[in-house]
Parts: sequence; C-alpha cells; structure tokens
Amino acid sequence: MTHSDILLDEGPSRPGTGGVEVRCSGVVHLYRTFAGHDVVALRGVDLTIAPGERVAFLGPSGCGKSTLLTLLGGIQRPSAGQIFVDGIEISRMNERRLTGVRSRLVSTMLQGATRNLLPYATSRQNVTFARLGAPAAVRRELLAVPDLLGLVGLADQIDQVVGTLSGGQRQRLALACAIATGPRLLLADEPTSALGHEDRDLLVRLLHRVGDEFGTTIVVVTHSSEVAATFPRTVTMRDGRVGAEGRSGSAYVVVGEDGTLHLPDDIAAQWPQGTLVQIEAAGTDRVTLTRAEATQGEA
Ligand code: ADP
Ligand code: MG
Repeated sequence: MTHSDILLDEGPSRPGTGGVEVRCSGVVHLYRTFAGHDVVALRGVDLTIAPGERVAFLGPSGCGKSTLLTLLGGIQRPSAGQIFVDGIEISRMNERRLTGVRSRLVSTMLQGATRNLLPYATSRQNVTFARLGAPAAVRRELLAVPDLLGLVGLADQIDQVVGTLSGGQRQRLALACAIATGPRLLLADEPTSALGHEDRDLLVRLLHRVGDEFGTTIVVVTHSSEVAATFPRTVTMRDGRVGAEGRSGSAYVVVGEDGTLHLPDDIAAQWPQGTLVQIEAAGTDRVTLTRAEATQGEA
C-alpha cells in the first residue's frame, strides 16, 4: 500500500461528535526542581481555541509549549489560572475526574512515538489497550479496531509488533491510539519531529483528516514551518506567554497582561534592547511606532 492509497481510501467513518472549545485564563505553571528552586514555565497564558479549530503552537525550545499541552490534556494541573475544556474547568479537578476527562474528552500524543505505545504488543493490542479506559457505551460507538488501523494506513500491520514498525508507522499507530477513544480534543507534541519528509507529510494529512471527518479540535506543537503552514492558526509562545499569532496567513502580536508587546523578530533585530520608541495613537485602531533619533541621550 502506498502513501497516497492510505489517503484515498475513504474508509468507514464514525458519527462525528465534533470538537470542543478550549479556554485558558491567566495560566501560570511552576516546576519545583530537586535543588528546591522554582522554574516558571508559563507566566500567564490567555488563549481561546474554538470548537473544531486546528492550531499549531510554535516557539523556541523551553518557552513552555509542552507544559501548556500537558495542562490542556489534563496530565498535570496548572499552578494558577483556569483552563476550561468544553466549558468544564479541568484546572481544579481531582485526579479521578481528570482520568475521566482523559478517557472521554481529550487525548494527548506525547513527544516520541514510543512513549505512547506498548513496545512488545501488536498494533491491534495497542489500540485495544488505548480504548480500555473508555466507557462501554462510548466503545460501542467507535470504529472497529481494524477500521481504525486502516484509517492510518496500518491495515497490513495489524498483527505486527511495535518493535518491527518503521518510525512513520509507529507515529501513525500512536495517532490511532490517540483517536481510539473518539476524543473531542486531540493534542500532539512534535508528532513529526523524528520523521522524514514523506512520513511527516502523511502524518500531517492524517491529522487534518481526523479534523475533517470527526470535527475534532486539534493542537499540535511543531518546529517545522512546513507543518505549521498547513494550520489555519498558529500561536507563537515566548518565555511562557503567547507572544504572537498567525491567522489565515496574517501575522499578529498579542498585547500582554501588563500592556507589553513583542516586536516581530525582524524589527527587533534592527531595534536592539534599550531603543527609545515613541508611540502615537491615530484613532482607536491604529498606532505608529517611531524610533527616536540615534543621537538622543548621547550629548
Ligand atoms: P518547550 O516544550 O517549549 O520546549 P517546556 O514546556 O518543556 O518547553 O519547558 C518550559 C520550561 O519549564 C523550561 O524552562 C524547562 O526547562 C522547564 N521544565 C519543563 N519540564 C520540567 C520539569 N519536569 N521540571 C523542571 N523544569 C521543567
Ligand atoms: Mg517541548
């Protein structure tokens, strides 16, 4: 079976349950290190993602992308602030209720396919296992395991052990496991980072196919501009906050809690830290930024 066969195969679809809204308000997250000091991973994230929206998170290493994903996925709780998934606040839930959220509402593909898979089990066993947490009533509504594996192009690898699958096949199996419970929010942390171009493009098309068929809200962390370009919305994080957004090809910076704005990189490169900038409002929707004369303050 070739890659294009996988995408052309229509396959049976499950009745769409649709995606959920995600809302973050003032989300802060600290990690306490063994040395006893705190690392601030998120410093006030405000973000709303509409039901069924597909968003790529971008930003330099260490800016908090993975942390935010684990909070949205109910894998850990934020130190402060609120997170709502489908209007339900998950940021204060106890562990038992969070387990319920993870088995019905949200699925997370952690970074590195093997972290999501049982290495000595077959494709079929992995998907079956992933589904165990789902309530029986939900399980009856879901695609049969072979159909689900067919959807991600692993029809011929159903009884193959994970250890014998290629990197691209493992990541597609991780996707099958993630959608095995019919989640309404799918989160994926750098799902294509270890893949070659062909496997990367196939995985990205499959992610979008999940969105098209089931209406799932999808959030992907990526370093790849090619992957990000396939998403209608990008959110660029900087230093634990949302610094910029791209929507339908237009770039925006985001006003921070204290009124700060990050300059776009190309302007920041020309206007180094400490540059004096005059800001003048022209009406309520437009301001101009003017760099002060270089001679100022030199006298
Ligand atoms: P990204 O995914 O954007 O690279 P992370 O969310 O992994 O960023 O990390 C954000 C910050 O939190 C970094 O400074 C990182 O070192 C720190 N961090 C992440 N996980 C832990 C942890 N388990 N313990 C301590 N610090 C952590
Ligand atoms: Mg990360």
